Amino acid sequence: MSSTGHADLLRALRAELGEQAVREPHDSQPLTEHLQDWRGRYHGRALAVVSPADTAGVATAVRLCAAHGASLVPQGGNTSLVGGSVPDASGKQVVLSLRRLNQVLSVDENNLSMTAQAGCTLAEVQQAAALAGLLFPLSLASEGTCTLGGVLATNAGGTQVLRYGTARELCLGLEVVTAQGEVWSLLKGLRKDNTGYDLRHLLIGSEGTLGIITAASLRLYPAPKGCATALVPCANPAAAVALLRQARLALDAGLTACELMAPLPLSLVHTHLPDVVGALAGVRLPTAPSLQAQGEDSPWWLLLEAVSPLSDADAQERLASVLVEAGSATADSTDAGGREGASPCLSQSLSQRAAMWRLREAIPMAEKIAGRMVKHDIGLPTSRIPDFIAQVDVVLRQRWPDSAVVCFGHLGDGNLHFNVQPPADCARGDAFEAFELAVNTLVFDTVQALGGTISAEHGIGELRKHELARRHPPAALAAMQAIKLALDPKGVLNPGRMLPAAHEDAPSA
Ligand SMILES: Cc1cc2nc3c(=O)[nH]c(=O)nc-3n(C[C@H](O)[C@H](O)[C@H](O)COP(=O)(O)OP(=O)(O)OC[C@H]3O[C@@H](n4cnc5c(N)ncnc54)[C@H](O)[C@@H]3O)c2cc1C
Repeated sequence: MSSTGHADLLRALRAELGEQAVREPHDSQPLTEHLQDWRGRYHGRALAVVSPADTAGVATAVRLCAAHGASLVPQGGNTSLVGGSVPDASGKQVVLSLRRLNQVLSVDENNLSMTAQAGCTLAEVQQAAALAGLLFPLSLASEGTCTLGGVLATNAGGTQVLRYGTARELCLGLEVVTAQGEVWSLLKGLRKDNTGYDLRHLLIGSEGTLGIITAASLRLYPAPKGCATALVPCANPAAAVALLRQARLALDAGLTACELMAPLPLSLVHTHLPDVVGALAGVRLPTAPSLQAQGEDSPWWLLLEAVSPLSDADAQERLASVLVEAGSATADSTDAGGREGASPCLSQSLSQRAAMWRLREAIPMAEKIAGRMVKHDIGLPTSRIPDFIAQVDVVLRQRWPDSAVVCFGHLGDGNLHFNVQPPADCARGDAFEAFELAVNTLVFDTVQALGGTISAEHGIGELRKHELARRHPPAALAAMQAIKLALDPKGVLNPGRMLPAAHEDAPSA
């Protein structure tokens, strides 16, 4: 598009949506928060950031961009970890921010459902449900910033998937603006609806490439009356899987979370965010020495959470019985390095539960402070996780003895964040790029051999699109490309994301 075309488009957007809905890079208020990703890995440029106030405004913006040959990058909270929500470097894309669509439209207590606009933060959705005495269980560390549209567009997971499923399982209906700027509204709060192709499931997880989600109907649950959390040391990942199995059998649907933490990520929290560890003082949680433990025999930690329809005391009792039964799977009260503090700990209060979760949720920030790492969000059958960790570890030690693995994640869902800290001589520039390529090949080959996936919950975006193209079955890829072409023939919506553009060369593996 020529610069006159750009000017025409911006004029038309302002005329239709109002001055305040269109911001350009040279405006006084910088657009940085919209142009770079949370990890600081992707930096784009944009023609403008457009923020319509309602669904009709979103449809107008899409129609105008399509008519002027401009593409759009839908954006919610911009917390994507795969670079899917920032524009490319061309300066010709329009960022379409959904944040002004931020109303909770209704809560239906008898139907256990609610309807909210896409720009509500996840925390706002949770709060609206809680005000009605109900639960919207999706929970991520980014919930104060990420939006309902974003979590559905990425089919986000988080910490409660074990019990309640991913964003997909929690969505009953959608309102969507198509690539042609039309609106389809299927905001029914129905559990059963067999009327043809389920377009909702096509849109969920489509990462802004097939349509723009403007509102959603959501499944709610009764809020549990009681909850208890425990931190349990485990001798190794196999012991953690065994404990998870016992907890599942004993607690069934009462088990709502099972998070795994290796020694190193806890040590990073201890080093870089000491206040988080300080909050654990006096609670007989993993104490500083045990969190710092870095020996071969340092314990891994499981965070388990159980709910009860009766009371906190009941939830504590149920969880305690699992810990007693599982005594043999857990490490002893003194860890193998002779350090105190590696014994199971059961929450006795809300503040103790919060302190345990803060420890887990502080890991991504501690990692960010610790420096650049090669990140992975892989999924495996839970039973194969110990094999995966052991097999990759052997090769890493042989090839890069000074690298270190920062492993944590949602063990209950078979989803690990398996990140690798490079040795000092690979920490920057081309050396890092080469290290990243080699480690990715090792990790993804092992994942594939063990029947897993290269992206469990963060999605594909920019980061994994070539890996997807390389590793997905060709027939499945062709079907995805055909769907994209059918719904967005002009490539208006987030082009080149998730599926590489036709002209793009993949970096060599
Ligand atoms: C600290 C931290 C912790 C995290 N923890 C988790 C976790 O536990 N589990 C997990 O799954 N993710 C996690 N994430 C990743 C991220 O928060 C999720 O992917 C989230 O769903 C993104 O929501 P968002 O509103 O920020 O979307 P954005 O980042 O703005 O966009 C993400 C993708 O969705 C598209 N999109 C956004 N809004 C819409 C819309 N309305 N319609 C159509 N497409 C849209 C974008 O184009 C982009 O491709 C974490 C991120 C951070 C920073």
